[in-house]
Amino acid sequence: MSRSKYEAVIGLEVHVELKTNSKAFCGCATSFGAEPNTNVCPICLGMPGTLPVLNRQMVEYAIKTGLALNCRIAEFCKFDRKNYYYPDLPKNYQISQYDLPIAIGGKLDIEIEGDGASKTIGITRVHMEEDAGKLVHQGNIMTTPYSLVDLNRAGTPLLEIVSEPDMSSGAEARRYVEKLRAILLFLEVSDCKMEEGSLRCDANISVRPNGQTKLGTKAEIKNMNSFRALERAVEYEIDRQIKILEEGGTIIQDTRTWDEVQQITLSMRSKEEAHDYRYFPDPDLMPLKIDQAWTERVRASLPELPDQACLRLVEEYNLSQYDAALLTATKDGLEYFDACVRQYPQPKVVANWIMGELARLLNQNNMEIKDCRITPHALSQLLTLLEKGTISGKIAKKVFEEMFQTGALPDKIIEEQGLVQISDEAGILAIVKEVINANPKVVDDFKNGKGKAAGFLVGQVMKASKGKANPEIANRLLNEELSRL
Ligand SMILES: [Zn+2]
Repeated sequence: MSRSKYEAVIGLEVHVELKTNSKAFCGCATSFGAEPNTNVCPICLGMPGTLPVLNRQMVEYAIKTGLALNCRIAEFCKFDRKNYYYPDLPKNYQISQYDLPIAIGGKLDIEIEGDGASKTIGITRVHMEEDAGKLVHQGNIMTTPYSLVDLNRAGTPLLEIVSEPDMSSGAEARRYVEKLRAILLFLEVSDCKMEEGSLRCDANISVRPNGQTKLGTKAEIKNMNSFRALERAVEYEIDRQIKILEEGGTIIQDTRTWDEVQQITLSMRSKEEAHDYRYFPDPDLMPLKIDQAWTERVRASLPELPDQACLRLVEEYNLSQYDAALLTATKDGLEYFDACVRQYPQPKVVANWIMGELARLLNQNNMEIKDCRITPHALSQLLTLLEKGTISGKIAKKVFEEMFQTGALPDKIIEEQGLVQISDEAGILAIVKEVINANPKVVDDFKNGKGKAAGFLVGQVMKASKGKANPEIANRLLNEELSRL
C-alpha cells in the first residue's frame, strides 16, 4: 500500500459539556457521577406541557468560546429541534442550532510536531445544544444483551465545535483537539475530561489520490475517548480506505465506531440508514439577539489564552518557543510557573526546575501540577539557597524530592538532615588528603597523565562528604594537592 500517493482529508466535530451549574433549559444540576436519574425534572424528562428556559450562562460560555476561536458572533441566532427517536432522548427531539449558529468562521493554529512550524485549522461553526441521556451497556454497544438509561445528562449544555476539513493525519487531528482543549480549559468553560465524556470527538475522514480536487467518500468515526484513540483511529481509517481504493474497491459512506480492544474501526450504519432529522425552529424558545455590547463585554473578560501566554514567555522571559509551549500547555502549569517567577525572578532557572525535576516526579507519581505539594514560595526558597551556595546542586535535587513527598520547606529539611554545603576549606582539605592517601594507585595514574583519575578522586571527596562538600572548592584543593606530589 502506498500511502504517499494519497492525501487524507480530516474534519472534526467536537462536543464539549459546559461547566454551568444547571442544565441548558431547566434548573437541574449538571454534576457528574450522581445516582442515576436523580438530576431530572419534568422539563429534561420531556413531560408534555413543560416549557424550556434558556440558561444565560450557556450563551455567555458560547460567546466566550466563539471569540477565543476567532469566530464572528452572530447578532441573531435561534434554536431548532432535531428530531429523532432513541431511548436516551425522552422528548424525541434534541434542542440544537441548525442554520443559524451562535458563532461562525473562526480559526485555530496548531504546532506541527518537531519543526516549530504551525498550521491554521479553520473553524466552521460553534453551536449550542443540549446533551442526551446516557445508555449504559453491558460491555460493547454491538453485543450487549440490554442497555440501561440514565437521564442525569439529558439537557446538559453542550457546544458543538465543527472544524473545516483542514487536517491530513492522525497526529494533526490529535494536536487540534489538544489545542482546542487547552483553550477551553484556559477559558474555564468546560472540564474537558475525555474519559468522563465531557469532551467527545467525531472524525470525518476521506482520502483522495494526490492532485485530485474532488473529495473522496467519507466515513464518520465515533467513540474515540482518548487522544491516543483519536490518533490511532484516524490513522487506521486512512489506511483502511487507501487499501480499498488500491484494490479497486469503492468506499461506502458510513458511520463507524472505534474498537479499543481490536484497535480497528467497525461499521455501525451506512448512509442509507442515515437520519433525516426534520429540523425546524423550536416554537418554545425565542430567537436569541446578542447585541454588540454583550459580545464586547465578554471579549473584555477573556483571560490570557495559550498562544498569548506562549508569546509572553518568549518575549518577556526570553524562553525558547519549545519551553514556552510546554509551560503553557495547561492553565495550572502556567499559573504555577508565573507564581514561582514572581517569587524568584529568574524565569529560565524556574523553567528548568519545573520541566526537569518537577515534571519527572509528577510523571513518576502519576500526578498533576495542581496536586503538587511544593508551593511557589518553597521552590523559591530552595533556589535561593542553591544560588547562595548553602547547598550544592546535587543536594538541592535531593531536598526537592523530599519537598515533593512531604511538602516541607527546604530550610527545615536541610537543617534536620544536616545537608548544608561544606565550604570550610580546612574541613574539605582534610577529606582531600584522606582520599589521596587511600587511593595511591589512582594518584599514580594521575601522575602518569591519566586526566580521568582526577575526576574519580573528586567523586571520592564528594562521596566522603556525603555530597555536602562545595564541589568547586573540592576540585581546586584536590588539584593543588596533586600538583604538590
Ligand atoms: Zn431538569
